[in-house]
Amino acid sequence: MSTKPAISATPLLSQRHNGIPARLFDKAQEAKSAISAIATKSQSNRTAIALPQGVGESTFHRAIDALRGHLGKDHVELVTKLNDGWYMENPNTHDAMHVAEEDALVASAIVYPSTTEEVQKIVHWANKYRIPISPISIGRNYGYGGAAPRVRGAVVIDLGRRMNRVLDINPDDCTCLVEPGVTYFALYEEIQDRGFKHLWADVPDIGGGSVLGNALDRGVGYTPYGDHWMMHSGMEVVLPTGEVIRTGMGALPGNNSWQLFPYGFGPTPDGLFSQSNLGIVTKMGFGLMPNPGGYESYLYTFPKDEDLSQLIEIIRPLRIAMILENVAQLRHVSMQIGLEGKPRSTYYAGKGRVPDSIIHEAAKKLSSGDCSWLYYGMAYGPREIRKYKLEIIHKEFMKIPGARRIDPTTLPTTDYFWVRDRIASGVPDIEELRWVNWHPNGGHAAFSPVSPVRGHDATALWDIARTRCEEFDLDLFPTFVVGLREMHLIVEIVFNRDEPVMRNNVRACLRAMIDDAAKLGYGEYRTHLAFMDQIAGTYNWNDGALMKFNEKIKDCLDPNGIMAPGKSGVWPARYRGRGWEMSAKDEAPEGLGVGPSPDSTKL
Ligand code: ADP
Repeated sequence: MSTKPAISATPLLSQRHNGIPARLFDKAQEAKSAISAIATKSQSNRTAIALPQGVGESTFHRAIDALRGHLGKDHVELVTKLNDGWYMENPNTHDAMHVAEEDALVASAIVYPSTTEEVQKIVHWANKYRIPISPISIGRNYGYGGAAPRVRGAVVIDLGRRMNRVLDINPDDCTCLVEPGVTYFALYEEIQDRGFKHLWADVPDIGGGSVLGNALDRGVGYTPYGDHWMMHSGMEVVLPTGEVIRTGMGALPGNNSWQLFPYGFGPTPDGLFSQSNLGIVTKMGFGLMPNPGGYESYLYTFPKDEDLSQLIEIIRPLRIAMILENVAQLRHVSMQIGLEGKPRSTYYAGKGRVPDSIIHEAAKKLSSGDCSWLYYGMAYGPREIRKYKLEIIHKEFMKIPGARRIDPTTLPTTDYFWVRDRIASGVPDIEELRWVNWHPNGGHAAFSPVSPVRGHDATALWDIARTRCEEFDLDLFPTFVVGLREMHLIVEIVFNRDEPVMRNNVRACLRAMIDDAAKLGYGEYRTHLAFMDQIAGTYNWNDGALMKFNEKIKDCLDPNGIMAPGKSGVWPARYRGRGWEMSAKDEAPEGLGVGPSPDSTKL
């Protein structure tokens, strides 16, 4: 009999901006009980507030009182407790999937603005008191730092709680304009509620993140509109000194093409606000895909690890020609085993990486059978058009000896295949969470290098990942994700958040993989806060010319260095040269104080 108390109900989307749609409530409860059934980590009872460096305690409290005066006392909270929660009830105080110490990357306070003007007030306030601020939309950037600020003690601006309206859906132009707190779940439901059955939102593997935050961090989804950054058009941004700009056509008063033409006139600054610390985005527009008039998922399996190289060579021309129409996903079978949602101990009690033979034994029981690689794809359009593409794909994939096409009609409705089917047709889901249960208190972090879509590159990266994970006794869940002309290898590593040795191994392993990859000329597309300095350091062509450029812009736009210092490895002048960078030699997230501000406004 279980000794755990009954779990509480997951908040619904009708109750909270970041809740679960009613249609997915049962699945969310199932996920929550599975996580809770094996959880052992106790929540911290800390009461001390993590003060930002360079700000004395009395100044900090005076500043917080002033902030409460600007926004109302209910809209500013001090962080005195950390609770990791779970995906659907995520904290905004720290990294729920902390690969570093739990309270290494924590906020001192959280503030909840309700308008762009209030965001401006917060930015003015931060400049006045020299308090670092760190914007989040929903804070579910799991695996990449979640809601955590890079600078300990920064004030997190939780935009999602009170700025979560779908401002516009234009059914003729197939566009939308959203505030930061609109999740994929929420956008999908809104489209349905407004009766726009002909519109699809592109959604990532799990639908709880924000449309805006995911695009800013250059996340992907699985319809032909999968490159979220590419599909944006128009932003409203509060700059680090408090001015507001609109990019693209939004700069022309009364213009009606803001969501149609992203470039406007003159230099295009949008890129400066992606993976950056140069602004707080308060509105963002996107293209929505028109329903293509039919769709059909397919799944192929390939028997051997060594098939990877030939398979990637087959995928490249098909993807560039858009015969493979959506972001192509080639998953290793270990990921498929992880998706069963069972802890690793179900399969193996030994130390070290679970042996391949055990993974293959377990795979025999899957509906897709034993294999090494699984390709999930979708063909779009009316039947004749799909047929044309599907025949080419079949002919090409079957060139691999032992390749199999899984007949979808043989798969039960609960099979994971149908989750991919929903996601690739714009219906957000939550099942992808299941592999986090590989370890109790499961956290995850990813190694995400970019490469050409070539067999040689895929094999080189696959070798790095396997060798290093072997060395550090870690299991790996790899997926190759082919954008169009490039691919990301995403190696997810799951760890027990309550086991410091395992967390140390994960960090050491990721750092080693990043260095190994850089030596061969590969760089990551996105990363966890703890590795941003290291990765930024690998993009160092011409004596670090790109970083020098980034620093110049940072110092110009953010002279007091208040906005998300250190995000993507870009440190403002006040922090530079003071040891704030995290590296294998120095994992401490803090440096030796901050320098004076260029202007000397009296506090
Ligand atoms: P999600 O909304 O997908 O849960 P987060 O809110 O965790 O994502 O945001 C991911 C990252 O993107 C944050 O750490 C932050 O650096 C950046 N970000 C999110 N929202 C904004 C925003 N509105 N303006 C600027 N940067 C943002």
